[in-house]
Parts: sequence; structure tokens; C-alpha cells
Amino acid sequence: MTRRRTLAHRYVEFVPKELDEGVLYVSKRFHTASHSCCCGCGSRVVTPLNPAKWRLTDHGETVSLSPSVGLGTFPCRSHYWIEHGAVEWCPEMTPAQTQRAQRCDERASRLHAGERVEGRWRWWTRLLLWLGLARK
Ligand SMILES: [Zn+2]
Repeated sequence: MTRRRTLAHRYVEFVPKELDEGVLYVSKRFHTASHSCCCGCGSRVVTPLNPAKWRLTDHGETVSLSPSVGLGTFPCRSHYWIEHGAVEWCPEMTPAQTQRAQRCDERASRLHAGERVEGRWRWWTRLLLWLGLARK
């Protein structure tokens, strides 16, 4: 398998079932971008476009996606950035990085959903629970 170095983009209403390699399909209607994993493994990578997930920047000829695409839960463990239509490869994700990314993801999703995350309060509650002073 060869790692892809470039990615073209295509605006579509519906993302097709069969994805062409090297094409980032952007559906504005469904606020998602989809592509076939740039390592060539054929995995379908779906990146939701919303403030808690990914942001797509259209430069006209090319697009950028941020943050990076980290496929730590895929067998290939690919990790890359899509910058101005170029695929910038990062080292493979370690299990620890994957876990951290998932935690960040959950937190961002909660924040996006309008739920308040009171870090200090939660920490305090956990301590009280641990001391047996509070109930769940
Ligand atoms: Zn892959």
C-alpha cells in the first residue's frame, strides 16, 4: 500500500457508497467530509464538520481539514493532516494518544451540545465520593 500525498476535493450533496481514492467528498448539506483512508487501506473515513469536530477551509483550488485525521481505532493507525490538498503524515498513533484523542473528542462534543463541563466541581465531587461524603 502506498501512502497518498495529495487529496482532491469534491462538493457533493450525497457522499457516494464507493469512494474514489484520493478524493475528499464534502457534503455541505450533511456537514460531513468523507474520504478513503490515505494509507490505501480502503477504510472509509467520515469527518463530521462542526465546531466540536473538524473544520474545513476552502482555499479555492485546495482545501484544508483541521484538526488532523487520527485513525487510532483503525487497524492502520494512520495519522495525517490535510493541508492545502496535501497529505502531511504524522507518526502512527499510539494507544495512549488514541485514548487522549477520544477523551478530548468526548469533551468537545459535550461542550458543543451545550452541556457545561465544570472541571473543578467534578474533581471536588469525585474526591467527596471517594471519601464517602457524597452520593452519586
Ligand atoms: Zn488506512
